[in-house]
Amino acid sequence: MADLRDFMADLLEREGAAVDPAGPDLLEVLAPPPLRERLGLPEMALLAFGAERPAGAVPVGLDGDWLERVGALLGERGRRAVRMVVPEVAPPADPERLLGHALELPNAVWRLKGAAPAWTRYRLLSFRYTALSDEKREGVLRLGLNMATGALLDGEQAVLWDRLAADPDWRTPTPEALRAAPSPWPAERVDALVRAALPPRLSAHLAPFLRSLRRRLDRDRDRLHEYHQDLHREAAKRLATARDDAERQRETARLEAIAREYTGKLDDLRHNYALALTVERVQALDLILPVHRLSVLIRRRKGERVVSLDWNPLLRQLDPPPVEAGAGLERARLVCDERLHLTDAAAQGPCVSCGKPFCRACHPQACPKCGHSAQAEDDAMFGSLAV
Ligand SMILES: [Zn+2]
Ligand SMILES: [Zn+2]
Repeated sequence: MADLRDFMADLLEREGAAVDPAGPDLLEVLAPPPLRERLGLPEMALLAFGAERPAGAVPVGLDGDWLERVGALLGERGRRAVRMVVPEVAPPADPERLLGHALELPNAVWRLKGAAPAWTRYRLLSFRYTALSDEKREGVLRLGLNMATGALLDGEQAVLWDRLAADPDWRTPTPEALRAAPSPWPAERVDALVRAALPPRLSAHLAPFLRSLRRRLDRDRDRLHEYHQDLHREAAKRLATARDDAERQRETARLEAIAREYTGKLDDLRHNYALALTVERVQALDLILPVHRLSVLIRRRKGERVVSLDWNPLLRQLDPPPVEAGAGLERARLVCDERLHLTDAAAQGPCVSCGKPFCRACHPQACPKCGHSAQAEDDAMFGSLAV
């Protein structure tokens, strides 16, 4: 818990408190009255971040209401930041070979045209999600995008955040670096990308949770079915051997009651296991970084186009190829006939209504053949994961 202790020490100091580390997991705090009040602390407080908890110490952890207290103290600070990092790393010796690993274009050919130093702006977005059903899952999902090339960062991001956290030298970008780096994308463009990229990633991330949810639901439903089937069978047997009308009426009423109860219990079950998912964008960090930019000529039939891929010196690897439509979970990109967009396979797939394939980057709104709305398609796929 040293990270949490250091973070709290930093924050409390900024808020006017005097802090003193009293041990590896302890912090002595002398806070001014308004801060004391907001955090519910005595004048002289000893905060304990670990298992060691001397008498009178206030336990602080990520559970309980400390997250909320600290969140209220932070307000909107830390939600947005811009940072420049200039790693001293030699550019890759064999960019052609790197491209060979990174580029998979089943319906096009490519050729490296050139490589040169450049600047980029990565936007690293953090989303907090809460999935609530009979159980609860909370967590943070991260998505990064290179605003010069349109590449999306996935698993690479964990390493990137580690590298950034390990570098305490926080530099604000110089005017020259800001001029050389691409301007931030308009909010609508970022939103469109997040809407396409986040739901399938969240869905993959939550897959084990959703599978076990499904298993519990199936198990409970089977039990319910079995129990009511037994009741039904017995009542039906008694009805068949009823000796008079009164008995027949009683058993018929019983059968109806069993059916009603079964439907009601099924509704309860659906209600219990219904999934409520909320996703909140909590942080955006713009990382201004010198990269090594590869220009790649792409040919498809008679068309050609140049796209860029950046080699990231912090990760020491080439970014994935851009994805201009679709989620881009796979490495392969299809190149469209009309404007040579790079998309994932699904984004060149057949229209769900007329069956004709079309490029969702050329036609983001609707199928050009039959006019079927692409939004309806998205909703059908990710309806339960709306952000
Ligand atoms: Zn169509
Ligand atoms: Zn296209």
